[in-house]
Amino acid sequence: MYCPFCSAQDTKVIDSRLVAAGAQVRRRRACNECNERFTTFETAELVLPHLIKSDGRREPFNEGKLLVGIHRALEKRPVSMEDIEVSLNQLKSTLRATGEREVTSKMVGELVMDLLKGLDKIAYIRFASVYRSFEDVKEFGEEIAKLEK
Ligand SMILES: [Zn+2]
Repeated sequence: MYCPFCSAQDTKVIDSRLVAAGAQVRRRRACNECNERFTTFETAELVLPHLIKSDGRREPFNEGKLLVGIHRALEKRPVSMEDIEVSLNQLKSTLRATGEREVTSKMVGELVMDLLKGLDKIAYIRFASVYRSFEDVKEFGEEIAKLEK
């Protein structure tokens, strides 16, 4: 690719490695003209199913929106960006593996809860208490008790 600094057409890859559990390639590149260095990330572009909302509306899968929710639940928790990325990639693989063109947003919500449960229990409780609007305090207590086992 062209150099983003000087637009020279000749840049070379000086390092290439797999990140996000092999779902992404990170390349360090250097420009032959201005010697600036930059990084590119390469991921496969695969189609994800559309979401069916609870009122029947359809909307495209929005990774950004999903990440906002995940980051909100994980706020100030000791979880690395790398771990979040790996989990998110697993979630997307699960969605693709359904082979469906549309899935319910409820199903995605459940997948996010599973993802958070694997990353951080506090984040899971935070997300679940908002998302699943627990019917009563007892149910919430049972959910916490399950986690403590
Ligand atoms: Zn350059």
